Amino acid sequence: MAIRDALQDSRLDQLAEEARAADDATIGAVSSLGAQIAALRQEVLRQGVALGVLTQALVEQGFDSAVLKARFEQAMAQAQAQAQLFACPRCRKQVDRSKTQVTENGVVCDACYQREMSEP
Ligand SMILES: [Zn+2]
Repeated sequence: MAIRDALQDSRLDQLAEEARAADDATIGAVSSLGAQIAALRQEVLRQGVALGVLTQALVEQGFDSAVLKARFEQAMAQAQAQAQLFACPRCRKQVDRSKTQVTENGVVCDACYQREMSEP
């Protein structure tokens, strides 16, 4: 009986050590993500300040702030539309991400998905 108790204690100690190691790994991963988020926040702040300084300098040089705003909004809309595009790995066409399907072989455009579904 004493041997069995000792084995159980040993196994419990081993499990507790594994749980502590898993906790340490999780804490390390969360800490790393926190550092990455802090760095991204700092970068967003830096770019926002740079944009503000550049915009102010352009206005001081005589650029119309309404024109700058309109050009920014146009460029932003184009960038967002570009980010929505997806290059289908099968047919190489660029399609809107909303016009894609997830298959067991990866993401493809609706047309390739339809072709794949109609294949015997
Ligand atoms: Zn396709």
